Amino acid sequence: MDMMRVKKMMIKSMDFVMLDCKQATYLVTKKLDGKLSAFESTRLKLHLKTCDFCREYDIQSSKIDAVLKQTPDDLDQKYTHKHRLDTKKKQEIVKKIVDNQ
Ligand SMILES: [Zn+2]
Repeated sequence: MDMMRVKKMMIKSMDFVMLDCKQATYLVTKKLDGKLSAFESTRLKLHLKTCDFCREYDIQSSKIDAVLKQTPDDLDQKYTHKHRLDTKKKQEIVKKIVDNQ
């Protein structure tokens, strides 16, 4: 049996205890807002260990978040909808996840 199939089966069997990708990406967003509970954080970490897409999503989101936090105040004011970039990237990744299912 090939590894991809094994991995897919494992992920499926863990659906009962694990988050699905939609929930995970939601929690990644929530984490960046600093609103994650300890329980949510643990569940998210578990999901990220098994899911390449959400791990990539988490990394990208963190990078974007870090860049935005470094943005000088005057730039912040120019880009009043600074979170739109974030959301767009997230939608791209969510689409990638859905397309690969
Ligand atoms: Zn996932």
